[in-house]
Amino acid sequence: MSIVTGTFRALAAALKQLPKKRMTLRYPETQLEMPGYYTYDPKLGVAKPGYKGRHILWLDKCTGCQLCSIACENISQAIEMVKVNRAQPNNKKSIFPQVDYAKCVFCGFCVDACPFYALGMTDDFNLVAYTKKELVYSPEKLAVPPKVTRPKVKVKFEKDVAFHE
Ligand code: SF4
Ligand code: SF4
Repeated sequence: MSIVTGTFRALAAALKQLPKKRMTLRYPETQLEMPGYYTYDPKLGVAKPGYKGRHILWLDKCTGCQLCSIACENISQAIEMVKVNRAQPNNKKSIFPQVDYAKCVFCGFCVDACPFYALGMTDDFNLVAYTKKELVYSPEKLAVPPKVTRPKVKVKFEKDVAFHE
């Protein structure tokens, strides 16, 4: 194939793509809309589908039972029960889970193990840090819902092709 033919073929291939909808995102300015939080209903024994990003801890529901930490023990030992200066009648020892995201594999077993609806997983996947210490989320830090202010886009599927607007 001559250089001229090759150039025209390459141009034609590029032009064919122009009217097609874009599949890639301008991350981090734009992010995908996630399907909400992952939670587990211990009474029904049913999980609510959602994104398994960093955890959310509902402090007032946590009894310090440590079942989340025990569930994680044979997986990654990412949970450590730590003392928090907080008077809470349903948590006499005032101990709450702290998660180390340098170890967590986002399996969600800790959420499934919580019998008191105190732990879930959010749609926050932006866990970038300069030091390992920054990846350790204290109970107070886990209690703050993530604030994602960037525009979110939904993925659409059409004829086996995924794209976004
Ligand atoms: S998601 Fe899995 S690895 Fe992460 S803290 Fe929970 S049990 Fe441990
Ligand atoms: S988050 Fe749930 S499982 Fe973990 S200590 Fe608190 S109540 Fe127990």
